[in-house]
Amino acid sequence: MPAGGLDQRSGQLAELAQITHERATDPRVGEWLAACESDAELTADPASDAAVNLRWWRHSYDRSTKLPARLVVAMSRATSAGKAAWAQAREASDFKKFAPSLEHIVALCREEADAYGVAAGGERWDALAQGYEPGMTAQSVAEVFDPLRPRLAGLIERLREAPHPPSDDFTRLKLPQDQQEVFVRKVAKAIGFDFSRGRLDVSTHPFCSGTHPGDVRLTTRFADDNVNDALGSTMHECGHGLYEQGLPAEHANTPRGAAVGLSIHESQSRMWENQVGRSAAFWAWAMPQLKECFGSAVSRFDHAAVVGAANRVEPGLIRVEADEATYNLHIMIRFALERALLSGDLAVADLPEAWNAAYRRDLGLEVPDDARGCLQDIHWSMGALGYFPTYTMGNLYSAQLFEAARDALGGAQALDDQFAAGEFAPLLTWLRENVHAWGRTHDSAALCLKVTGKPLSAEPLMRHLEGKLLPLYGVQA
Ligand code: ZN
Repeated sequence: MPAGGLDQRSGQLAELAQITHERATDPRVGEWLAACESDAELTADPASDAAVNLRWWRHSYDRSTKLPARLVVAMSRATSAGKAAWAQAREASDFKKFAPSLEHIVALCREEADAYGVAAGGERWDALAQGYEPGMTAQSVAEVFDPLRPRLAGLIERLREAPHPPSDDFTRLKLPQDQQEVFVRKVAKAIGFDFSRGRLDVSTHPFCSGTHPGDVRLTTRFADDNVNDALGSTMHECGHGLYEQGLPAEHANTPRGAAVGLSIHESQSRMWENQVGRSAAFWAWAMPQLKECFGSAVSRFDHAAVVGAANRVEPGLIRVEADEATYNLHIMIRFALERALLSGDLAVADLPEAWNAAYRRDLGLEVPDDARGCLQDIHWSMGALGYFPTYTMGNLYSAQLFEAARDALGGAQALDDQFAAGEFAPLLTWLRENVHAWGRTHDSAALCLKVTGKPLSAEPLMRHLEGKLLPLYGVQA
């Protein structure tokens, strides 16, 4: 979209935000909700379709009515301008160009959090996080992150000291993009993405957007010298897409037919990208497909070389390029910083310095410039504070759900045999029945407990990472 239309577009978006807010907070909606809630038959079974819908409609109505229209419009305008300022600042790698916008956005976020209300013992971050993951609080995130951090750091350190890390030659191999596209489409089809109910296109930043289980749009990206990035992006977005295609169409456009929250959504993408796509069993099936698509260009790589390259662990500056283990450290840094921005412990002007210090401390890296530092992600420019932890929560849910699926499908060997034979339908069917079909009947924590029998914990993710990476690096478990 042309930069010259920014003011006009900002005005249009603000107008739409106001109209949406007016309709969402119409007092008649409150009357309808109250009338339904007083009908004992409708709410008797909390897992019934009607009760689920009522609960979530009440949740969003109560949330919307707490925000004054003035604030909704101000936020819409500030984030339109913020995204543009962020893009320019990133281009110039100069945080100062973005700082005034971010300052304004953080001030509005604080106002928004105060309007939602902060529970006793809670903090502003909690109020904002509800918009992305109902039930998630800074406290509940910290309870999971705090024990995870030292274990991840310990694992990364052990891998760093390994004398024979796997080579990344395969990842850096130059391969024609049109052949890469044939390959990733084949994988997308094999894992169950239904192309009669969705599309796969190309964009700079891959995403999945669905309007209905019958119309799910994905994008991926290609680079000449990184087929693993194209494959990982495709399997990741396919995971989101499989969830969207698996939601109950008969409940479309109601909470009963919607995804639980961002964490569970992310668990679906991470499972196909990581638990499946980086496994030795998957590559037992994928190697012949790879050779068929790329011919002699890949002939010098065997199964072990490709699996090794897919699982290299190396601290880097960029979150979206991070491996499975260091990725979570990127998230923990952002969580701590946005919490401090909201509480006022960190001034916006001091963000680059705090960011760079965190990368030095947690990843052992010097950040050379703002573009590869605190300007790399779009989220804060969109006012999305309280969002980042859902990525790591997704990794944790993914590992825990995958263990449950594996047990239900006959154990690790049986599942490996299925993957090696290109049979991904049993896993997808299990996810359809145990996760997708429920829509929002249960919140994330309740769904996890129901499906896995345990509350969310760091153990399955650590078991997954240690169990796979230590042997690959030749390190004693
Ligand atoms: Zn995702």
